[in-house]
Amino acid sequence: MSIANPELDFRVILDQICAEMQAAPHRGEAAQYIPELASIDTNQFGMAVALADGRVFVGGDADRRFSIQSVSKVFTLALALGRLGEDLWRRVGREPSGLPFNSIMQLEHEEGIPRNPFINPGALVVTDAILAGHAPREVLGELLRFVRAAAEDDDIHIDEAVARSETEHGDRNMALAHFMAAHGNFRNSPALTCGTYFHQCAIEMTPRQLAMSGRFLVGGPNMPGLIARDQVRRINALMLTCGHYDGSGDFAYRVGLPGKSGVGGGILVIAPGRASIAVWSPGLNQYGNSHLGTLAVERFAQATGWSVFG
Ligand code: GLN
Repeated sequence: MSIANPELDFRVILDQICAEMQAAPHRGEAAQYIPELASIDTNQFGMAVALADGRVFVGGDADRRFSIQSVSKVFTLALALGRLGEDLWRRVGREPSGLPFNSIMQLEHEEGIPRNPFINPGALVVTDAILAGHAPREVLGELLRFVRAAAEDDDIHIDEAVARSETEHGDRNMALAHFMAAHGNFRNSPALTCGTYFHQCAIEMTPRQLAMSGRFLVGGPNMPGLIARDQVRRINALMLTCGHYDGSGDFAYRVGLPGKSGVGGGILVIAPGRASIAVWSPGLNQYGNSHLGTLAVERFAQATGWSVFG
C-alpha cells in the first residue's frame, strides 16, 4: 500500500490551484433546470484533500455548503450493494452510457434497464431498490447516517428548498421512472422513488465534509470500513468509467482517477490508497460536470503525479 508522498507540499499545491481558479475567466453556467440552483454565484471555488494518514488540506471556499446532487449516487450505490449484493445488477448495467445523464433514448432501446448506476435512470433504480418497502424517511435517515459516519461529522443535512425545487420541476426524472415502471423495472411508485431521489440529491456538504466522507472509498488501514474491500474496488471502477456520464472518458484521460460529479458543481475524486479529494465550483461544462472543478483536479493530479495508471 503506497501512502502519500511526504515530500509533496499540499498547501502550496492547493494555494496555486485556488489562485488559478479564482482568476479563471471562463467558469461555466450553474444548472438552470433546478431553479433553486440556477442563480448560485459561479465565482465560488473550494477544494479539500483528506489524506490516508489523517491530514486534511483545504483551499478557497472549502467550508461553504453546496448541493451534492449526483455525488449522492455513490453513497446510495454503496448502500444498495451492501444490501442486495450482485442481485442489483439484474436491474442496472455496468457500462458507460456515452449519453447525457438524463437521456431517455438508450433506456427505450434497452427496454428499461439503465446502462449504469450513475446516470439518472440507473440511480433511480438504485434508490428504488433500497426503498424496498421502507418509508422514504427511513431510507433517507439511513443514508444520512452513512454519510455522517463516513465524514465523521453529524452536521450534514438535506436542503428542503432544493428538494422541493427539483420535485416541482422533476418531469424528466418522473418520465424516466414511469418508463422503467412500464418495463417492470420499478418496485415503488415513480412519485415515491423520485421524491426520495430528489431528497438524496439535495444533501448539502462543504468540500471539507465531502472529502472526509469519501475516505471509505480510499481503502487502506486507517480508512472507515463501511463497506467490504471488494465493493470499494468495484465502486471506484464504476466511478472511473461512468462517474462523469458522456464526459467520463475525457475525465479519465485528463485526471486519471475515479471521480463522481454532480450538477451542484461538486466532484468527489478518489486516489486509491492515498486520499479522498473534493472540489466545488458551480459553473458546469457541456456534460453537466463542474468546469473549474475538473480543471482543478486535473492540475492536482499533474502536481502530485497521482493516477491509477501508474
Ligand atoms: N438531481 C439531479 C437530476 O436528477 C442530479 C443530476 C446530476 O447531478 N447530474 O437531474
